Amino acid sequence: MRCGNCNKNIIKAKLGRCKSCMITTMVCSLLGILGNLWMGPNPPMTTPSLAIKLFTFAFMTLFALHVAFATYYKVTGNVPKDDI
Ligand SMILES: [Zn+2]
Repeated sequence: MRCGNCNKNIIKAKLGRCKSCMITTMVCSLLGILGNLWMGPNPPMTTPSLAIKLFTFAFMTLFALHVAFATYYKVTGNVPKDDI
């Protein structure tokens, strides 16, 4: 994915650094959680149900990575340079 704010296509270079990307992944994970709640506690094993689960898992993992990297950069102050 490419974002107009950070303008980087290397995912490692913007993990935990671009607020716009962090907000996007957070909103997408919240939408996925809402979709899972909307499907109910025991949804049938259909394609939409699996798609919502996969969507939620992917965006929650990405958001967790963003938060982990942001915390690491904040704690250590070891932020990589942009011109690589
Ligand atoms: Zn970005």
